[in-house]
Amino acid sequence: MIRINDNYLKLKASYLFSDIAKRVTAHQQRHPDPAVIRLGIGDVTRALPEACIAAFHKAVDEMAADGSFRGYGPEQGYGFLREAIAANDFKARGADIHADEIFVSDGAKCDTGNIQEIFDNGARIAIPDPVYPVYLDTNVMAGRTGPYRNGRYDGIVYLDGHAENGFIPDLPREPVDLIYLCFPNNPTGATITADRLKAWVDYAAANKAIILYDAAYEAFIRDDSLPHSIYEIEGARQVAIEFRSFSKTAGFTGTRCAYTVVPTSLMAFTASGDAHSVHNLWSRRHSTKFNGVSYPVQRAAEAIYSDAGRRQAADLVGYYMANADLIRKEMQALGYPCIGGENSPYIWVSTGKESWAFFDMLLEKAGVVCTPGAGFGTCGEGYIRISAFNSHENVATAMTRIRCALKS
Ligand SMILES: *Cc1c(COP(=O)(O)O)cnc(C)c1O
Repeated sequence: MIRINDNYLKLKASYLFSDIAKRVTAHQQRHPDPAVIRLGIGDVTRALPEACIAAFHKAVDEMAADGSFRGYGPEQGYGFLREAIAANDFKARGADIHADEIFVSDGAKCDTGNIQEIFDNGARIAIPDPVYPVYLDTNVMAGRTGPYRNGRYDGIVYLDGHAENGFIPDLPREPVDLIYLCFPNNPTGATITADRLKAWVDYAAANKAIILYDAAYEAFIRDDSLPHSIYEIEGARQVAIEFRSFSKTAGFTGTRCAYTVVPTSLMAFTASGDAHSVHNLWSRRHSTKFNGVSYPVQRAAEAIYSDAGRRQAADLVGYYMANADLIRKEMQALGYPCIGGENSPYIWVSTGKESWAFFDMLLEKAGVVCTPGAGFGTCGEGYIRISAFNSHENVATAMTRIRCALKS
């Protein structure tokens, strides 16, 4: 009798975004006009930069001729893209990362989800609350947790975020081996200073732990004092893996290209304490289970680092950040304390109510869809996430409607 991986049965039954979709559909059937405005799901809405499109087209044409056609590429990614990443995203910021430490992939979701399989099943896992659900669910699937009870899985060390710590978790009080961090954060939009990040790097070094640093929103940082990469912090090459994605940076959510940095100096240990290169483990995993991102997509991603591409990607981010400014300003003017929206496309709003009650009220009275904070973890209760990923027109209309709804 074939048995299932019954860890899957531990997964929380309902999925946040399907719950939201059900409520939105029911609302629309009752009130077809005016159309709802979606400031909920974290997907970009604007077209790819022109420089990317031009490079994409050119690469497709190369695939049309035998002389320039490409078959399987290097699993780790083409050198032209890894060199551009190392030079622009790391060396230019004083972070010592080499092209051969970069693994190009089809998404930071896959990478942040898959990375756990190269570590021991008994590893003690620290995960922030609230959190991007992928980190948690993939550890549940792998059997690193007990059952789900009262909003939490047994066996996980939760790192609580709350108003007092500004949603930047404090160091764990018990020993942990693998630590997930994400800055600028999804869902809270919180950012971390170099000093606070250094405390995490030092903790990891002292405890022989590894930090999994998700920097998918690094392009939204406007405060020059904030680190874009964990490798800007001294000692991070010995303790951290970093995940990046072109999804939010340059509108690649439907095109699919991301990368993971695993420094050659990063070590993890056998039961008897022998050090092994984590880079070698991930390289083995990546080349066994992944066959590379398509050539035209890697050319499109490379174009982000051209002069025109850089300008156009910055404009794209700037467009969404103008929305973030408006959302934050309006919600604060209405008396709701906000985190995020200054160096991130998400605004985390303290509602003074239960998340779902506030969600229903915004949907009912304003026809605006947000994301209830409780869907990201128990510490998200009382908050909602508003996303800046929409057109200026829709965001302006949504904020006018919210203002009318909340004042009445
Ligand atoms: C959007 C997002 C990513 C990027 O995912 P892709 O698979 O590269 O599209 C990674 N981490 C977080 C927290 C995100 O919100």
